[in-house]
Amino acid sequence: MQAAEGALSSSEEGSSLDEPTWVSWFCMLRNHEFFCEVDPSFVQDRFNLYGLKELVGPLYGEAMTMILGYAPTEKQLADPTQRVHKVLDTARILYGLIHARYILTAQGLSDMKAKYKAHEFGACPRTLCDKQVVLPVGLSDTHSTSNENPLKLFCPRCQELYDHNVPGGNYIDGAFFGSTYPHLFLQTFREVRPPPPTQRYVPRVFGFKIAKVEEQALQNTAREEWPKRLKNEPVSDWDS
Ligand SMILES: [Zn+2]
Repeated sequence: MQAAEGALSSSEEGSSLDEPTWVSWFCMLRNHEFFCEVDPSFVQDRFNLYGLKELVGPLYGEAMTMILGYAPTEKQLADPTQRVHKVLDTARILYGLIHARYILTAQGLSDMKAKYKAHEFGACPRTLCDKQVVLPVGLSDTHSTSNENPLKLFCPRCQELYDHNVPGGNYIDGAFFGSTYPHLFLQTFREVRPPPPTQRYVPRVFGFKIAKVEEQALQNTAREEWPKRLKNEPVSDWDS
């Protein structure tokens, strides 16, 4: 009984040990399942942040403090006048761009491998890929403010790209994962590479392969055109 009371009073005080970090909170948000938690030591290393200050703008410092701190409280999130809302946008972009760099490191690749093995990125929608796990990819490494670089999915089996369809729209920027990630991942962990597809879908009309039907149609057209040509007229200069 005493222990329970003790636990209650500790949570009432809002001990920092119970509070999730900003990074954990961000990765747990809906539609953020693909992000892995970037190691704080990576975020603090200036070498890894080269060039990002210019990219994210004047709120860089506040956004960085936010990323390295604790999750915003419900009270802060409920009040749109709070400064946290202004900084959150920049923090989201900054974290995304740091994340794209992190997942190319040995630790980042390993973190993403755990997610890949847990099928967290979903499966290829192509029937003959047999639910092959896909990997997140961006078509560009530059963040777009007008959602022109939405996150895509790459299937390592059919080597095709797919749209990432999520309820409410795909607003995750492709630059937060980058154009290199899935390919470096598959080069690094060759053992997870699936074999190429062995089956190809064959379209059929009334049981006949479309190619055969088209071939037949061509032959029919040729036969129809044949009598139109005058008997002794040369087809081209080469035939004369
Ligand atoms: Zn596929």
